[in-house]
Amino acid sequence: MHKQICFQIIILIVWAAASGATALKTIVIISIDALHPAALGAGTTPTIFKEMTAGTYTLDGHSTNPPKTLIAHTAMFTGLEPGKNGKSDNKWQPGKQRIDRQTIFDIAKHHGFQTGFFYSKEKLGFLVNSAVDVHRWSREDAIDLAEAFIRKPGRHFVFLHVSGLDFVGPEYGWLSPEYMEELSYIDEYLTPLIRLVKAQKNYVIIITGDHGGHDKIHGSQHPDDYKLAFIARSDVMELKNIQNTRYSVADLKGIMDRVLK
Ligand SMILES: [Zn+2]
Repeated sequence: MHKQICFQIIILIVWAAASGATALKTIVIISIDALHPAALGAGTTPTIFKEMTAGTYTLDGHSTNPPKTLIAHTAMFTGLEPGKNGKSDNKWQPGKQRIDRQTIFDIAKHHGFQTGFFYSKEKLGFLVNSAVDVHRWSREDAIDLAEAFIRKPGRHFVFLHVSGLDFVGPEYGWLSPEYMEELSYIDEYLTPLIRLVKAQKNYVIIITGDHGGHDKIHGSQHPDDYKLAFIARSDVMELKNIQNTRYSVADLKGIMDRVLK
């Protein structure tokens, strides 16, 4: 039933490359864990809101079934839904088998980018493969690590996973004052990173999430648990919105294919 509710307004993003992938210097994908799209706005998230209004976005994206962190991120990385991507549970520990499918990092590496994966939940280590040059798990410093990586000379592809809302949501509730305060903090913390990427020119910035939540619950069949935002902005590629298409977390890899073709 959630599909009928969530997916009526659907957007396809088409990149018409003005100068091709070779012009790109920096690609940054920011996944804000447990971000409910209804929380975004000029007051709470001024930096992200600026990217929304100047770029292209949908607030009607949807997660995997079930809408859980590692399952959704595996779909983002592989372009494949659970059941086809080798990950249908939400668990991983160091020492366990990692992903064995091609990911967005393989595409980026193939096109000559230095690749960095900075994440704030240990189980996302499942997604590290040989195409990831630098990877660090840090609950507190993932944003700082990503920023330091981008500052180094060269062309960079970064996936940054930011947590915080996934702790505040279950304790205080999705869209509660505490949740909104945490999101404002994240928005402020991301501001220097986004400013740096844009100052370097020739960028693509994507800001998205893995799932939403409702009350103090997430990962259920409730429609709000599937909701997520997808925001994209670039200074070298033309972005077009086309109605009557839809965004799912598993579409991210196809978008990266088009950005880098
Ligand atoms: Zn999550």
